[in-house]
Amino acid sequence: MTTLVWFRQDLRTTDNPALFAAADSGSVLPVYIHEDPQQTGDTHPMGGASKWWLHQSLTALKQKLPGLVFLKGDARHLIPKLARDAEVSNVFWNRRYEPHAMERDTEIKAVLKEEGFNGKSFKASLLFEPWELKTRTGGPFKVYSPFWKTAQNLEVPDALPAPEEIRFVECPLSGRLEDFDLLPSSPDWAAGWEDIWKPGEDGALKRLNSFLTTGLPGYGELRNRPDLQNVSRLSPHIHFGEVSPRQVWHETRKRMLSNAETGNDGHKFLSEIAWREFAHHLLYHFPDLPSSNWRSTFDAYPWREEADDLKRWQRGETGYPIVDAGMRELWQTGYMHNRVRMIVASFLVKHLRIHWHHGEAWFRDTLLDADLANNSASWQWVTGSGADAAPYFRIFNPITQARKFDPEGHYVRRWVPALKNLEAPHLFEPFNAPQAALERAGVVLGKTYPLPIVDHAAARQAALDGYASVKAAG
Ligand code: FAD
Repeated sequence: MTTLVWFRQDLRTTDNPALFAAADSGSVLPVYIHEDPQQTGDTHPMGGASKWWLHQSLTALKQKLPGLVFLKGDARHLIPKLARDAEVSNVFWNRRYEPHAMERDTEIKAVLKEEGFNGKSFKASLLFEPWELKTRTGGPFKVYSPFWKTAQNLEVPDALPAPEEIRFVECPLSGRLEDFDLLPSSPDWAAGWEDIWKPGEDGALKRLNSFLTTGLPGYGELRNRPDLQNVSRLSPHIHFGEVSPRQVWHETRKRMLSNAETGNDGHKFLSEIAWREFAHHLLYHFPDLPSSNWRSTFDAYPWREEADDLKRWQRGETGYPIVDAGMRELWQTGYMHNRVRMIVASFLVKHLRIHWHHGEAWFRDTLLDADLANNSASWQWVTGSGADAAPYFRIFNPITQARKFDPEGHYVRRWVPALKNLEAPHLFEPFNAPQAALERAGVVLGKTYPLPIVDHAAARQAALDGYASVKAAG
């Protein structure tokens, strides 16, 4: 019996239920299909950084699965065609939860059934299916704490091993990964990323292991420090399914058991994994999350359409060093630390009063871990328009945030080298530094480093004034 395995965001061989079941029942035809978002109806298509990762990750998967076939086109036509041409009995895949993907999966499953194939999907990229967790009244969760309280008491099944043996069959169609055109060329803005990131299953497992050894101790407190190495940086690996949340869960629990001192840190880390589960739960139950304010009163907010300000934010030229450091880290590495994501996002929607859609789109294009559920839920969370969101009137002060979470200024100095010689108290607010301190550090405001785009106190007040419209609408 032959099974076609359709790979998507599950680019791994271990704990891959679709692949495991296929290998168990006979020979396997593994396929990855690159689709045109215009055909799939994907309103939030993959950005440039994610495409770079995907290329590397598929290259790594091909090394593990030499029979993997790369095809370009519409999966709605290609999957049934392949099933017919290769005379397979089963078509297996692991589930995705983006609204457009679920719609198409249902369509494909129906076509397969009609044609007599056994189309089957599996749970692989979440710990808990969004429909498995319910509030006491039977509805979806809208608040994270009860969601996590319920989730942490549920059993998480063991992760599956990689199939012991995989027998591949010849594919009647052929294509090349290069034809997907995923890599940037001129300019190659991803040059050097191979030195920072190791996409693929082996890189993911290595990173998980090294994080659990060196980053987990202290994670609970130090996860807020962008100048330290206490977060896992697993997010792109998890997004592309190079490691499963089940593997992360059980490996973390093992460490917690073997070293009781990491108990609280491990618990905190798993609670972050649960934020990802919560974001997917929200996306499944509220499929408009990426496009509409979850709290519709925010439709009344008087957003500014200021292309120049947006560009300065994107380029890291706001004149607020912690914001600029974050935006430059993002551009140069495809990653930004969570604390800094919150600061820069708050700055865009509150200090600049620019709609979160613009921030979501920029993050989607530049983040290696760009993820529809996490990105939309997080942007709405920061804005205050989302489920269980931070209140709008709590406006991050980018100066005090930097002092608190980058106390020695290592993070800012690394990403904004023009300020590297400025002493710590002035480093986070060069526009308030005495002229002599600026001169000693070789900083000329407006030349070597930008003047601030807005005045913090005035911007804060304007944001609060705008919020009055939201309150009035409620
Ligand atoms: P760790 O602290 O090591 O966390 C481990 C894992 O838990 C992460 O890899 C991620 O899978 C999950 N996780 C952690 N925090 C969150 C969170 N707040 N929400 C959901 N999952 C979380 N995360 C994405 O994966 N993709 C995105 O597109 C994305 N966009 C964001 C946009 C904004 C405005 C903000 C504030 C946050 C966003 N996040 C996003 C959430 C979070 O910042 C990242 O998951 C985290 O920084 C990734 O780094 P890490 O793997 O080192 O995290």
